[in-house]
Amino acid sequence: MKAAVFQGIKDIRVEEVDDPQAGPEDVVVAVSVCGICGSDLHTYEHGSFVAPGQIMGHEFAGEVVEAGDEVSGLQVGDRVTASPLVPCGDCPRCLEGRYNLCASAWTTGLAYGRPGAFAERIRIPRSIPGENVFKLSDDMSDEQGATVEPLAVAVHAVRLAGDVEGSTALVLGLGTIGQQVLQVLRAYGARRVIGIDLSELRLRAAATLGADAVDGAAGIDAAVDAALGEGEEVDVVFECSGVPELARAALDTVKAGGTIVVLALYDDPLTFNPTALVQKEIRLQGSIAYTSDDFGEAVALLSSGRAQADPLITHRHALDDVAEAFETQMSKDRSLKVLVTPGAPPSS
Ligand SMILES: [Zn+2]
Ligand SMILES: [Zn+2]
Repeated sequence: MKAAVFQGIKDIRVEEVDDPQAGPEDVVVAVSVCGICGSDLHTYEHGSFVAPGQIMGHEFAGEVVEAGDEVSGLQVGDRVTASPLVPCGDCPRCLEGRYNLCASAWTTGLAYGRPGAFAERIRIPRSIPGENVFKLSDDMSDEQGATVEPLAVAVHAVRLAGDVEGSTALVLGLGTIGQQVLQVLRAYGARRVIGIDLSELRLRAAATLGADAVDGAAGIDAAVDAALGEGEEVDVVFECSGVPELARAALDTVKAGGTIVVLALYDDPLTFNPTALVQKEIRLQGSIAYTSDDFGEAVALLSSGRAQADPLITHRHALDDVAEAFETQMSKDRSLKVLVTPGAPPSS
């Protein structure tokens, strides 16, 4: 089969590789669509997270084409998406159900160690419906299926923030994760969601999804001031930008007693004065990936229409054009979510 293989910084090539085979507990999925993630760009640009030779791609959907003898609840023909995490199942975090914090969930995960989904087929080890493989109902397209993974990231982060009903929330950075966070905030009853970015295209998408979208061109402090009404406070900030300046602004902006959830990945270390945390009694919460429950919730939000995929999708590229797809995804003014389509045209 054909697969896109990461060979080094800014070097991703379509190569012929062996077809995956399902073991007794596995399924093999024919990938119809796979999104490019922000973390994939860190790999593409800086060589982070994976070694050369890796087939990347972890936001995918497709059809089961092979199911091992011991797999139950999944069969050939099922349309599915899947979590790329492959947790060990035995460590203290796994026993708590916090698979996202298992040390081997990533090192042996799909697209991180095991082959990913920028390929015609992918093998999903130990396939269990509702745990790591999620069926797509007839009312969900494969493209929606490919946006479940980043939506699950947002579900996890918003759940970590606690009860957001009636709150004023600030989302810094409106890439896919920022957009997904604001959708989950709206679905969970946040009174007001303010989204800040520099890209006009991303601001438009955020407005479509129900945020008060604010251009940050005049600087983050001015943007926040302009957005907040008289006496209005920011209860919770979601830092999705990875820009050190915005992380510092989050500390200044959040109300005393408020919460900051950090989802972004940073290329450079950040310096800040922790006294601000103490004096304002700020809760600074990191958030990584999702549990199985978060993943299932993301499927439910999309299938019920409480979250959308279409406003996020700006480009589709054939697998053969994966290098061009990455270049498009790098351009924040031009793209939001770029999809690679290894399979037949997505059913939607
Ligand atoms: Zn991702
Ligand atoms: Zn584990």
